[in-house]
Amino acid sequence: MVFLMSGVRHAFTVDVEDWYHGIPGRGESDVYLPRLERGLEVLLQLLDRRSVKATFFWLGELVARHPDWLLRIASSGHEIGCHGWSHEFIYKMSPQRFREETLRARDAIGNVIGRAVEGYRAPYFSITKNSWWALEILSELGFTYDSSIMPIRNWRYGLPAFGQHPQAVETKSGRLWEIPISVRRCLGFKVPVSGGAYFRLYPYAFTRANIRAHEGVLGPAVFYLHPWELDPEQPRVGFSWKEWCTHYVNLSSTQPKLERLLGDFAFGTLREMIASRTAV
Ligand SMILES: [Zn+2]
Repeated sequence: MVFLMSGVRHAFTVDVEDWYHGIPGRGESDVYLPRLERGLEVLLQLLDRRSVKATFFWLGELVARHPDWLLRIASSGHEIGCHGWSHEFIYKMSPQRFREETLRARDAIGNVIGRAVEGYRAPYFSITKNSWWALEILSELGFTYDSSIMPIRNWRYGLPAFGQHPQAVETKSGRLWEIPISVRRCLGFKVPVSGGAYFRLYPYAFTRANIRAHEGVLGPAVFYLHPWELDPEQPRVGFSWKEWCTHYVNLSSTQPKLERLLGDFAFGTLREMIASRTAV
């Protein structure tokens, strides 16, 4: 495989879920009110200002509530992928439930945008060695690529053995491209390049250095964000400290960091990134 090293265009990806979808044990109380559009509007404006087209992985559960937003984003030239239906860990599901939920989400999204959905991103990057079977089901359901594997070890996810490069995975249902979330070696350790909580935790200079290092060695990087990370006024609810920190740390830093990121690097969709890697 040959990388296009000049004018590197990285992949900008968005996991479209509301602020409470990543919060464990969310209840029915009035505090869990939908507010997806607050962060989404800010994000779309920032991307528009730089003419960036991104890949938006939609949670199936949100399609019926926000069909107008989904259609607006698809009509603006962004790529639409699937982020599952219920935002549960895949390795806690049976293959049968995963298949049913993914099919339901794929069809709900596809019916609104009027075209096939090619890409998939698992909630919590939860394709690990315990849910490797999911790739065969994704291929069976017509997905051509997945971008769910974080090739490090983490308390909630990770598949360190996968490696840092995109790979074509052969399953019994056919071939599927796996585009792992970007990590790089730093001081002997593999560290996530950036995205989500890492983007909020890292000083911006560290994110920039990571992406530059990645593009020099591995080619284009995969960046990811959630709309709620641009909504610092979202309600604070209590849960375990690890998840609390991951969710709420430095929310007010996301927008200024993102403005700098979009000025420093060129971004496009994941589908474009895959095409550029396979066409040369
Ligand atoms: Zn998610």
